[in-house]
Amino acid sequence: MENMSDETQLAARADVDHLAAVLERRRSELAGANAVIGGATVVHAVTEHVWVGVRVPAVVCGAATDPLRLRATTAPISCRRCTRRLTGSSAGVSDGQLTLD
Ligand SMILES: [Zn+2]
Repeated sequence: MENMSDETQLAARADVDHLAAVLERRRSELAGANAVIGGATVVHAVTEHVWVGVRVPAVVCGAATDPLRLRATTAPISCRRCTRRLTGSSAGVSDGQLTLD
């Protein structure tokens, strides 16, 4: 990537802006909803992470790292790991994954 022309760098920058817009849209789709991953049936709780300055949706249990695979659903949470993290004690706080504000 050392010899990228200015044009290439501009294109890369446009890609990043586009991705940020896509992620923002996905985040708003998932706001207040639960999520399934891809075509799976397990329903996860949704939280947010900040990734290179962009707020991106994520499942609470961390089962999916790709926010673009998340699909909003109104079905109740069926993931046991998400449930445990949401209702559980403070035992899981040390992993730093979950930020509730
Ligand atoms: Zn989950």
